[in-house]
Amino acid sequence: MVRLEHEVLQSVLKPARYTGGEWNAVIKDHAAVDCTWALALPDVYEVGMSNLGLAILYEVLNRREDIAAERVYAPWTDMEEEMRKRKMPLFSLETKTEISAFDFVGFSLQYEMIYTNVLNMLDLAGIPLFAKDRGEAMPFVVGGGPCVYNVEPIADFFDFFIVGEGEEAIVEVSDAFMAWKREGRPGGRKGFLQRLLDVPGIYVPSFYEPEYDEEGNYRALRPLVEAAKPVIYKRVIRDMDDAISVEHPVVPYMDIVHNRIMLELFRGCSRGCRFCQAGICYRPARERTEENLRKMARGLVDATGYDEMSLTSLSSADYSCLGRLVDDLMADFRDEKVSFSLPSLRIDSFSIDLAHKMQQVRKSGLTFAPEAGTQRLRDVINKGVTEENLMKACGAAFRQGWKQVKLYFMMGLPTETDEDVIGIAELAKKVVDLYTEIKGKRGCKVTISVACFVPKPYTPFQWFGQLPIEEFQRRQQLLKEHITDRAITFNYHDA
Ligand code: SF4
Repeated sequence: MVRLEHEVLQSVLKPARYTGGEWNAVIKDHAAVDCTWALALPDVYEVGMSNLGLAILYEVLNRREDIAAERVYAPWTDMEEEMRKRKMPLFSLETKTEISAFDFVGFSLQYEMIYTNVLNMLDLAGIPLFAKDRGEAMPFVVGGGPCVYNVEPIADFFDFFIVGEGEEAIVEVSDAFMAWKREGRPGGRKGFLQRLLDVPGIYVPSFYEPEYDEEGNYRALRPLVEAAKPVIYKRVIRDMDDAISVEHPVVPYMDIVHNRIMLELFRGCSRGCRFCQAGICYRPARERTEENLRKMARGLVDATGYDEMSLTSLSSADYSCLGRLVDDLMADFRDEKVSFSLPSLRIDSFSIDLAHKMQQVRKSGLTFAPEAGTQRLRDVINKGVTEENLMKACGAAFRQGWKQVKLYFMMGLPTETDEDVIGIAELAKKVVDLYTEIKGKRGCKVTISVACFVPKPYTPFQWFGQLPIEEFQRRQQLLKEHITDRAITFNYHDA
């Protein structure tokens, strides 16, 4: 067990990132269980604690008496410095156990930019980076999450991957592990990995060889043993009402990115925006029933004390009974001052009425995602939104009393021209003018947030390259020059 000295905690910016002991955290005696998991999100505590997928796995595993699951996140640079200085290994939040002492270390791979954090965390834990270098006493390093659909670039660092929704597969993996352990670990590490070839949705890179063409382009994966399947199908939870939901989320002592209850309405998305990996990889759309959601909401408020709940999904406004669900939830929690929010709104008047209803307790700005500045480009990306939709939605919002609108766009989408870039500025200006027209005075604020487009695997845009940095910078500058109204704020990422 790692001793977390007072001195260390006093020298870092946010000690609560490392102390654990939060409400609903599960602490088990490792000697009393047969399988231990360190669930890792390779980002800081605030980001990791806001991830619903990992919270589901934490609860699924800890419901089993014979399994203990604990959490670990990437230490911030101040803590890392202390840890390296003191030769303190990476430890879990619950029992401060060294990560290298767990049976499994499961990394949730949310986006490519955190790959280096995975390696840094393995290094801090004293676990060899390459799977082939790990000895018998080392944990199995597992990957899951959206990046696993295109995992070959980092395959050598992992013992295996869980492809798709992991809550059933992770239990099957744990059961296979406990059986292998009971039988005296036949065949060593390789023996266990061989057993995983029978579990659907598991990819064990060491049983495959990637093939490349003469130019170094990846072509295919060739199985090296008979039991390794040539195609690995993602795991999908068929019936969302049977799926385990988080009933006891861990409540942090510090502010985190999503510091509220997340009520998962449905998985998947029935739309087909061509840039969106989640929309394609999490198909099909599967809803929870309204009755179930109301029951879950009650349980979550009682188990946490939160007074804010986000109705979370890829595109929550598409939930088929959303209007009725919101009415019912608001009635259920009328006396408890629980407020509800939707992470994103559909661009239509129905959504505005709904947002108006939901924000009776608290009122904040509205967020829409037209994604592109011209109709031509919105058609290219299959974003079924017109300028008329946006103007109608913003008009409805202004009439209901909103003054702030945030618009999300992407830059560098395939076929984008300067005209499309300037279109973003023009669209924002039209929204500002609409407010003035409706209210007869100025006074609204429009924030446009423009992300640099990253082509994602498994989307129709996967073979389009990303724009060079200089071209992103040129287009950002071009857009900046065309924003002339002070009511518009332009936010963009470092290219
Ligand atoms: S961008 Fe949103 S609406 Fe479009 S496919 Fe993705 S999740 Fe669905």
